[in-house]
Amino acid sequence: MTSRDGFSAEEIFTQTTGYAYNDFIILPGYIDFTPDDVILETNLTRNIKIKTPFISSPMDTVTEAEMAIGLALWGGIGIIHYNNTIEQQVEEVLKVKRYENGFINNPIVLSPQHKIRDIDMIKAKYNFSGIPITVDGKLNSKLVGIVTNRDIDFERDRNKALAEVMTTDLLTAPEGISLSDANKILKTSKKGKLPIVDKEGRLVALMSRSDLLKNREYPLASKDEKKQLRVGAAISTKEESKERLAALYEAGVDVVVIDSAQGNSLYQVEMIKYIKSKYPSIEVIAGNVVTVEQCQNLIKAGADALRIGMGPGSICTTQTTMAVGRPQATAVYRTAKYANKEGIPVIADGGIANIGHISKALALGASTAMMGSMFAGTHEAPGEYFYENGVRLKRYRGMGSIEAMEAGGTNRYFAEDSPIIVAQGVSGAVVDKGSLHDYLPYLIQGLKHSFQDMGIKNIPQLHKALYSGQLRFEIRSQMAQREGHVHDMYSYKEPKYM
Ligand code: NAD
Ligand code: IMP
Repeated sequence: MTSRDGFSAEEIFTQTTGYAYNDFIILPGYIDFTPDDVILETNLTRNIKIKTPFISSPMDTVTEAEMAIGLALWGGIGIIHYNNTIEQQVEEVLKVKRYENGFINNPIVLSPQHKIRDIDMIKAKYNFSGIPITVDGKLNSKLVGIVTNRDIDFERDRNKALAEVMTTDLLTAPEGISLSDANKILKTSKKGKLPIVDKEGRLVALMSRSDLLKNREYPLASKDEKKQLRVGAAISTKEESKERLAALYEAGVDVVVIDSAQGNSLYQVEMIKYIKSKYPSIEVIAGNVVTVEQCQNLIKAGADALRIGMGPGSICTTQTTMAVGRPQATAVYRTAKYANKEGIPVIADGGIANIGHISKALALGASTAMMGSMFAGTHEAPGEYFYENGVRLKRYRGMGSIEAMEAGGTNRYFAEDSPIIVAQGVSGAVVDKGSLHDYLPYLIQGLKHSFQDMGIKNIPQLHKALYSGQLRFEIRSQMAQREGHVHDMYSYKEPKYM
């Protein structure tokens, strides 16, 4: 038998040294297929499959409805953070559940009593016109008209009530209409806007002609049995979470993440048992853990997936401050090996800064990757862009940062018990990444190329190659890491994404 080049993961990741993603490299395999042949479908939890292995972190600068919708459309899933009231978190979950591709589900609406100048202000702020008018200016109320540019172009008196200028002869479409049928109506009618109304004539959504070309189908979308987008929500192990859970369950959440830095606790074990007995249909992602012993406890309690990572996050100070945690590559390999045997998928959470890190996490046994900083700079992340030294940025902060804990108040933090707050995260900014709808296709394609280089066509095959020792690894010296990145250039332009 010829000895194989490189080393198996078992040979490398069971040493006394803990390794990070950058410490090792995967040796190439044999290519006899194209990147299009690669399928990225994977298990999010014991019972939920998703088509791409991307999860957005439950952080208040990362995941609210817009992020969760974007991820679900591209086959991943977003986890809504809980640094908010129960009502606010439920509202974000409902926005995802109510979302219909191509339809504007929360259009700006005015009442007949509003003035033309109100339309002027909306136009100046959002640069759109064509405002539906309902009896009381609210969505889900009776539609009575629409005001478009043509209704108000030549009107000098900007204080005139919209009731006097609005168009009342309306073309509408019924709730439940398909995207392609609604698009057809917009095309043939030549109207700018198409209000969607329920049986009682109440406005439920809007379609816009200017969006017509952007309305694409999403074959990878993560959907539940009712064909609604899937979404997750985070909760804590505190008593308040029981009330949260009840409301999240009512809202139709697919999966909950029990959000703790050190998940191997009595509080978490009890919370898992509580959820599994009271809401058996909700899948539970438990964590965070980094050792086999921690996994054993949470799997025994009933966890449907485990979240791996203590200290690798880009905003994290846990390992420095608490002296506890584990380098992420070793943590993923060791925990996944145990959990996968038990039929429990693991999520590699934190420390992912590029496509290569996602590939490495999957190659070490993770089924999905959870990311915060990778998504925090996209349009779909909460918060506004701002400029610093001419660079367009968005705020990104750890949930254990002083700022985030203060924003969450005592529902998240034991401030009432202790006047001293020990932070485990920092608050800062990340660079503008543009739209998730450009970034996710890039990640998907990049990952497919990486799989092709490994000679692997899908995630189950990758895990099989990992555990059989067919997948080969090597540790990189410091100089090898330098050599493996751009070097010795006078200047160069970084690609838009890495
Ligand atoms: P946590 O709510 O799990 O714990 C906060 C404190 O409350 C801990 O001391 C915990 O033991 C205690 N506690 C929790 N439930 C309790 C209960 N029912 N009764 C009594 N005490 C209880 O939150 P955390 O671990 O501080 O994490 C806060 C946030 O920061 C989370 O969003 C987490 O993901 C993030 N974080 C993540 C990491 C990481 O490496 N993954 C590290 C630090 C922080
Ligand atoms: P990133 O993808 O490297 O930016 O890491 C995101 C992950 O960091 C999250 O999914 C959490 O697990 C973790 N995290 C969130 N907030 C904090 C914090 O305040 N301190 C440490 N880790 C955090």
